[in-house]
Amino acid sequence: MSTIEFQHVRKIYPKATTAALADISLTINRGEFVILLGPSGCGKTTLMKMINRLIEPSSGTILLDGVDIQTVNATKLRQQIGYVIQQVGLFPHMTVAENIAVVPKLLGWPKAKIQSRIDELLSLIQLDPAQFRHRYPAQISGGQAQRVGLARALAADPGVMLMDEPFGAIDAITRTILQDEMLRIQQQLHKTIVFVTHDVEEALRLADKIAILHEGTIVQYDTPLNLLRNP
Ligand code: ADP
Ligand code: ADP
Repeated sequence: MSTIEFQHVRKIYPKATTAALADISLTINRGEFVILLGPSGCGKTTLMKMINRLIEPSSGTILLDGVDIQTVNATKLRQQIGYVIQQVGLFPHMTVAENIAVVPKLLGWPKAKIQSRIDELLSLIQLDPAQFRHRYPAQISGGQAQRVGLARALAADPGVMLMDEPFGAIDAITRTILQDEMLRIQQQLHKTIVFVTHDVEEALRLADKIAILHEGTIVQYDTPLNLLRNP
């Protein structure tokens, strides 16, 4: 499940004079952890948000498992794609458990299945279910909230995870812990992950492959090791 293929994708925003993305062709294989790396404004977020159709391309095609995503209902598409952003945006009036349950409830899962999934995910992100299930977002730390955001995105077991600077607002020590957890979780779950960052160290640490963007084009796409060998 979940190979992503960009074919000659271009994006020009209304009234913009230059293309935010120019002729992007890129294949992300299933189970790969791919990092989009580059300075602010180079087009990372635009590229990522096209995968769940939060942004539509001006031209070109994006295939998910060989299917043109334009032909898929956007809501259905987003249910197969987990999404984690910097300001995780947990619903403040919902407990940790209720936050994690949002998509499974939309999908009509039976209550017992949802409850066991919540506990499974809390254990995965190393928060004690008994201690955290009933807390509200205001009663947990920033790092814990980011983990709950990750659990919420994983809840319905999507094939693809999109992560936009998920650890950008977290202190350096907690960020290292969360990066280690991401690697551990990826070893267990083998999701196709597209992860945006401008932090070179983070990219080298996490990625199977790094796509380096410069002014709307991909200038290099390779493994961290090869990029270090041939800078
Ligand atoms: P990054 O994520 O690498 O910081 P973005 O994808 O957000 O880059 O932006 C790429 C380019 O597109 C930038 O020049 C940015 O100013 C422009 N851009 C992004 N969103 C919009 C928008 N909604 N309208 C017009 N221009 C935009
Ligand atoms: P951090 O410095 O990592 O952001 P905090 O100081 O926010 O951490 O929290 C430290 C610990 O106290 C965490 O385990 C957090 O879950 C717990 N905690 C924080 N606020 C509350 C609260 N209002 N009620 C119960 N536990 C809390």
